Amino acid sequence: MLLKRLEIIGFKSFVQKTILEFDKGISVIVGPNGAGKSNISDALRFVLGEQSMRTLRVKKTEDLIFSGSEEKQRLNQAKVTLVFDNSDKSFPLDVSEISISRQVYRDGENKYFINNSQTRLKDLLTLTAKAKIGLKGYTIISQGMGDHIISANLKERKEMLDEAIGLKEFQLKKNEARLKLQQTKNNLEKVKALILELTPNLRFLEEQVKKIKEKREIKSKLEELEKRLFSEKLLFLKKDADRMKNEYENLKKRISELEKEKLEFLKKIKKIEDYT
Ligand code: ATP
Repeated sequence: MLLKRLEIIGFKSFVQKTILEFDKGISVIVGPNGAGKSNISDALRFVLGEQSMRTLRVKKTEDLIFSGSEEKQRLNQAKVTLVFDNSDKSFPLDVSEISISRQVYRDGENKYFINNSQTRLKDLLTLTAKAKIGLKGYTIISQGMGDHIISANLKERKEMLDEAIGLKEFQLKKNEARLKLQQTKNNLEKVKALILELTPNLRFLEEQVKKIKEKREIKSKLEELEKRLFSEKLLFLKKDADRMKNEYENLKKRISELEKEKLEFLKKIKKIEDYT
């Protein structure tokens, strides 16, 4: 894997856009004390996702941004970009060049980019871990760190070896999975507590639902009964009406018969009167 380019703008003493091109082999940066050589290795750590301000040799995020000089005003953001040649596919992406960037603002906001697309720190760390680049191992050896490597304790040496053999990616995934597991456990506890809290309410609600159901059933039975009652009454009234109609017809017939009889009698009386 070849580091092709480092671009720095606004980071620490680098007020102007500075591009460092690297070729195959060893590159050496020389300069007087305080010229900003260590700031370059800080920039490398910074773009690789370093979160410790102490390791970046500052107290707070703001100190990473150019703070101004007699000639130049302070800046409000800093950006560092690393460009790698990826023709050997050290990064498992199907592109011949990979760039990773980190931008930081005075309010503490950080943005990360892979090939100019904004990404999460987590994804940037996973990608660099896949390419066996990391912050804990031997990728960047800052001033005084040579001694530290020699005198490193077992845990620190293991971290360096893990990074070198590409275990870092899986460790990151393991840590993430552990974190998710813990979150799931916490959520489970919350759900359990909620169930405990809600159980009495649930019983009360079940009772209420039972009562509502019973009321609904009774109401529908009552409606059914009322329908039957109404149709029975209607039948009864119909029959009553038929019976009354028959009686009416009979009475009408009887009246007309009596009328006829009356007429006969009147005729007879007339006849008798005519003779007398
Ligand atoms: P040495 O060889 O002594 O370690 P160096 O070349 O590594 O020196 P650095 O430590 O990289 O130097 O740079 C230090 C310089 O960077 C100092 O002059 C300091 O004022 C400047 N510097 C650091 N942070 C900022 C900042 N936020 N804004 C402006 N200048 C800064």
